[in-house]
Amino acid sequence: MAGIINILPDNVANQIAAGEVIQRPSSVVKELIENSIDAEADSITVVVKDAGKTLIQVIDNGKGMSETDARICWERHATSKIKSANDLFAIQTMGFRGEALASIAAISEVQLKTRQDPEEVGTQIRISGSKIVSNDPAACPKGTNISVKNLFFNVPARRKFLKTNSTELRHIINEIHHIALSHPSIEFSLLHNNSQIFNLPKTSLRQRIINVMGKNLNQSLINLRSETSLVNISGFIGKPEYAKKTYGEQFFFVNGRYIRHPYFHKAVLQAYEQILHPDAIPAYIIFFEMDTNKIDINIHPTKTEIKFEDEKAIWQILNAVVRESIGKHNLSPSLSFDKEGIIDIPVLRKNTEISAPKININQDYNPFKEEIHSEKSHAGYYREERNQNWEALFQGNNKNGKTEKFLPEDKTTIEAKQGSGRFMQLKNRYILTPVRSGLMVIDQKRAHERIIYEKALKSQSENKIPSQKLLFPEMIELNAPDFVTFVEIKQAINKLGFETEEFGKNSIIVNGTPETVKNSDIKTIIDEILEEYKSLESDTSLKMVDKLARSLARASAIPYGKVLENEEMQILVDQLFACANPNYSPVGKPVINIIRTEEIEKILKS
Ligand code: ADP
Ligand code: MG
Repeated sequence: MAGIINILPDNVANQIAAGEVIQRPSSVVKELIENSIDAEADSITVVVKDAGKTLIQVIDNGKGMSETDARICWERHATSKIKSANDLFAIQTMGFRGEALASIAAISEVQLKTRQDPEEVGTQIRISGSKIVSNDPAACPKGTNISVKNLFFNVPARRKFLKTNSTELRHIINEIHHIALSHPSIEFSLLHNNSQIFNLPKTSLRQRIINVMGKNLNQSLINLRSETSLVNISGFIGKPEYAKKTYGEQFFFVNGRYIRHPYFHKAVLQAYEQILHPDAIPAYIIFFEMDTNKIDINIHPTKTEIKFEDEKAIWQILNAVVRESIGKHNLSPSLSFDKEGIIDIPVLRKNTEISAPKININQDYNPFKEEIHSEKSHAGYYREERNQNWEALFQGNNKNGKTEKFLPEDKTTIEAKQGSGRFMQLKNRYILTPVRSGLMVIDQKRAHERIIYEKALKSQSENKIPSQKLLFPEMIELNAPDFVTFVEIKQAINKLGFETEEFGKNSIIVNGTPETVKNSDIKTIIDEILEEYKSLESDTSLKMVDKLARSLARASAIPYGKVLENEEMQILVDQLFACANPNYSPVGKPVINIIRTEEIEKILKS
C-alpha cells in the first residue's frame, strides 16, 4: 500500500521556516544588515517603501559575493559562517544558520546585485518565490545590494497580519537602532518613501548613543566598566533625573548582539532602587563581552533571547557595577526624595521618641491639627467645571440598604454637605467618605482617569480648542520611532485638546494642552501617551481617539501616593459623579465600592 507521508518541496519548507525568522519587514532589515556587517561593510544604507511592505533594500560596501555564492546563498543552510556543529559554540558573526536569505527568497521577490574586488563585473540575480528567474553579469560597485519586494506576496495570511505603516516603520527604526548602537564605527542611514529618516555617521559609542537617542541624554550618561574573568561589562547608564516612566531606552548587548533580558533588567533597576521613583525606568546601554561557549544564542530563531550559563553570577556583577557607577558619580546627595512611593517604614534610632503614626485627613475633621502635612495643592487639576449640583445626583434614599456597588441610579445620599464633605485619604490611594448605606471607597487614580477620559472624549466630539494656550510653547525632542508614532496620531491628539505640531526633524512643539494636563508635566505626558498608545495599538476593537483618550487618562491622572487635600478630594468626587459612567475606569476596573454598614456592624459584633 502506498504511504501517506510526503516530503515537502524545498520552497514550501522554506516558506514554513520563513515564518520563524521573518515576522515582518523589520526582520528582513535585521537579517540583511547583519549579513552586511558580517561582510565587513562600514557603510549600510536601508531604503524602504511603505514601511517595507513594498520594498526593502539594503546596500552595503562590504566584500561582496562571487557569482557562485550569489547563486548558492539562497539555498537553505547555505552559510559561509560555520562548517561543523562544533563551530556553533564559537560564533563570532551575526549570522550562522544559513536561513535568512532562503527564508526571504521564499516569501518575496528578490533582486541581488553584488561584486567582489578585484572582479570588474558583478552579478545580478532575480528570484521569485525561491526560484531563480534571471542571472546576469552586471556593472555594480563593490559590495552587496539586495532588494526585497512585495514581502509575503505568496502568504496572504501573513501579509494581512502586518500592522499600519507607522508601526512597521517603527519596528524597522528600532531594529536599525539596536544594531547601530553596538556598531558605532559603521555608518547607517534610513530612507523611507524618498525621505531620509536618519543618517548616523561613524563615530564614538558615546556620540552614537546621543545621535540615536537624542541630545537630551548628553549630560546624563554615566560610564560603566567592569572586567572579571566571567564577563566584561561596559557601556553607559543614564542619571536618575533623566529616567522616564516609559520603556524604549534600555539596551543590552551580548558580544555585539542586542538581546532582551528581563532578569538582568531587574539587576539594573535594583541598583537604582533607593534613588529612583518606583515608576521610573533608567536608561542604559550595556554591553556584555564573554566567552561564546558560556552562552547559547541558538535558542531563539531571531536570536534576541540568549541563555547564559552563569546567569546568577552575572546578575550580581551587573548589579554591583551599576551601583558602583552611581556611587562614583556621587549621584545620591543631589536627589531629593519625593514622599510619593516611598514605603513608610520608620527607622528607629536610639533616643528617638516614638510617636503615633500620622495619617492625612481633612483639616476640619482632624483634631490633631499640627500633624497634618499635605503637599502643595493640586486642585488645579480639576478645579474647573466643578459640578455644583453633585449632591442632587445622589439624593434620594436607599431604603433596603442593599447597595453593593455604587450606581448613580441608586441615588445613595452622601451625608456630608457640599463644601464640607468629610473625606479621608487612606494610604494616599483611596478616598473614604460616609454615605447613607455605609462607607464609600474611591480609588483616586482610577477616578481621575475616568474624569480625564470622559473630558477628552467630550472635547473630541465637540471639536474644542485647547483649553490652555501655553505662554511659552514647549519644544520636545523625540526619538525617531516615537516621532513616527506622533506623526500618525497628531490629528487625533489635537482633537483631544492638545495643540501640537511637528517642528523639524524628530521634534515637536506643544502650543496648548487640555486643562487636565499640568504644564510642568507636558514632556512626560506626551512620552507616556505615545508609550500607552503603542501598547494599545494592536487592539483593533478600539478607535484611535478612544485609545488616545485612555492613554491621556493614564498618563495624566493623579498618581497613587499623592496626598490630597480635603478640597481636592471633594472636587475629584464631584467630577467623578458628573461622569456618565463613574463606576469603572476607562479600562473597566472598578472605581468605587461601598462597605455596607451591616458589614461594619458584623465585624464589630462582640
Ligand atoms: P547566515 O548569515 O546565517 O550565514 P544567510 O542566509 O543570512 O545565512 O546568508 C547566507 C550567506 O550569504 C552568508 O553566509 C554569506 O556568505 C552570504 N551573504 C549574505 N549576505 C551577504 C552580504 N551582504 N555580503 C556578502 N555576503 C553575503
Ligand atoms: Mg545572515
